Amino acid sequence: MRQVFRERECIHREEGAEGEFYNGAFYVQALQQLPIDQAMQVAGKVGSFFWADAPHILVWLCAACADDLQLTDTPRAITQVARRQA
Ligand SMILES: [Zn+2]
Repeated sequence: MRQVFRERECIHREEGAEGEFYNGAFYVQALQQLPIDQAMQVAGKVGSFFWADAPHILVWLCAACADDLQLTDTPRAITQVARRQA
């Protein structure tokens, strides 16, 4: 089975913010650990996707968004993407 990763990103990427790709599953997990208001706020800044697809999603987050999600405390959430040059 071919695994196709899809990418989502926070709104700050266009502004040239520094960031990393995070594993979609960790992103969802982190969202679920936030109070709902805060989770909605963060999720609103990132392209949405079906949570069932999370294992196949890479989420690019700037440092501030990752911090909101406390993903900066979870180094293994960061995905080293061997980006294929098309
Ligand atoms: Zn951001």
